[in-house]
Amino acid sequence: MEVKYVNLKVDSNKYNPSNRRRRQNTRPPRRNYNSYNKRRRRKRKKLLTGRRVFILAVAALVIFLIFTIWNALTPKMPPVENLKSGKASQSSVALKWDKIKDADGYYVYAKTFEEPDFKKVATVKKKTSYTVKKLKSLTDYTLCVTSFKKFDNIVESDRRTIDTRTLPAVPVFTECKSKSEGAISLSWKSVPKAVKYQIQYVKGDERDFKNAAVKSVNASKNPSATLTGLEKSGPYCVRIRTNAKYNDQDINSDWSSSNTLYIAENFTLRSEIDPNKPMIALTFDDGPGYNKASKHILDTLEKYNAKATFFMVGRNAEGNEGNVRRKARLGMELGNHTWNHAHYGENVLPSDIKKASDAIYNICGVYPTAFRSPGGMTTGTIKAECKKENMPIYYWTIDTEDWRSRDADAVYDKVIDSVSDGDIILMHEIYNSTADAVKRMVPKLLKKGYQLVTCKELMYAKNGKAPEAGVEYISPTQVKE
Ligand SMILES: [Zn+2]
Repeated sequence: MEVKYVNLKVDSNKYNPSNRRRRQNTRPPRRNYNSYNKRRRRKRKKLLTGRRVFILAVAALVIFLIFTIWNALTPKMPPVENLKSGKASQSSVALKWDKIKDADGYYVYAKTFEEPDFKKVATVKKKTSYTVKKLKSLTDYTLCVTSFKKFDNIVESDRRTIDTRTLPAVPVFTECKSKSEGAISLSWKSVPKAVKYQIQYVKGDERDFKNAAVKSVNASKNPSATLTGLEKSGPYCVRIRTNAKYNDQDINSDWSSSNTLYIAENFTLRSEIDPNKPMIALTFDDGPGYNKASKHILDTLEKYNAKATFFMVGRNAEGNEGNVRRKARLGMELGNHTWNHAHYGENVLPSDIKKASDAIYNICGVYPTAFRSPGGMTTGTIKAECKKENMPIYYWTIDTEDWRSRDADAVYDKVIDSVSDGDIILMHEIYNSTADAVKRMVPKLLKKGYQLVTCKELMYAKNGKAPEAGVEYISPTQVKE
């Protein structure tokens, strides 16, 4: 039997519910199904990861907000910046740091390297620097600074620290004296960890140590030194410092303050002076003069090998350098009569005296060794300055009043009529009348047996010792109290 097949044509483009059903029911092949599932799972996973990140971000934001709000509500101070240490001394270290806006101030702490805890040493307000004091010499320190502000309570910043070291102690002289000519004796307290000491000394009282000589002395229990080969007179400036060893490092202390002292003079009278015979001191104020009077007075004195004392005005010494040097060369005693003779009594300033001494020294290399005040009025200020400058103060026993009379005969008569052993005779070297009087007076006095000496020689011959600086001598045997 022949079977006829009818070909049933289905138009797939046409809507056909059965067809749709069939398609829905049609499962994809196994292999396709797996990859489909994988895709779906992957898609889901992606979705899940995105959500997680979102939640985490929100959480972080919340935490950040809480933190920010907490921070805003809890006051804090920033730590100081640029904390620096400056110059250290044996007992102090200087600190400075940058200013912090709004800070009420800063606390400063200190501790040694060995100590565990900081000790507060200062509360600094307004300033941004502080010198920590009362530290131990040659010691390592940690210093610390914090800022603070007062809210409900004091809020203090984190600490900033700096390490530093103090210097060795500066030696302190227990003796600084010239006991013999050309020498200075020194002793001082020994300094812990000192290896040696350095001494600087320089002639003059300028305290200028640029060209100073240096002497090194090894450390010992009772350190001392003698400086020798010095000049025979005049002031010297001396200072000292410690050389220490610390952790194999050489470290110097600061220099001590400068000591000024005068070389002791082994004063001896000129061999031709006989202390048992009469003597007088001629003294001349106000020079050197602009006329020939001063020169003529020196000519007379030189001719008879007589000595005198000249109380010079510093301003007049300048411009008459040859005259000043001649006086020094002839062995005259150089005296100070202030710088310009403009101030009297209590108006005389230490600088009026110092300036004159310096002028005379600068001309002839010798400091004045005597002082007479203009008008003869002396004060505590004058005495103190004269003591400092190693000058006794002299009055007189005979006033010739040569400035009033300007008469050679009157001056001559006054001296010759009233002179006696030990007199100090007041004249002025700026009058020709006085020069004329001196020309006749000197040979006459010598003929009468008087030795003509300087004030210092007179004091020494009559008292057996040199006159004292700052003391007012009315005569060799009378001192003003
Ligand atoms: Zn005078």
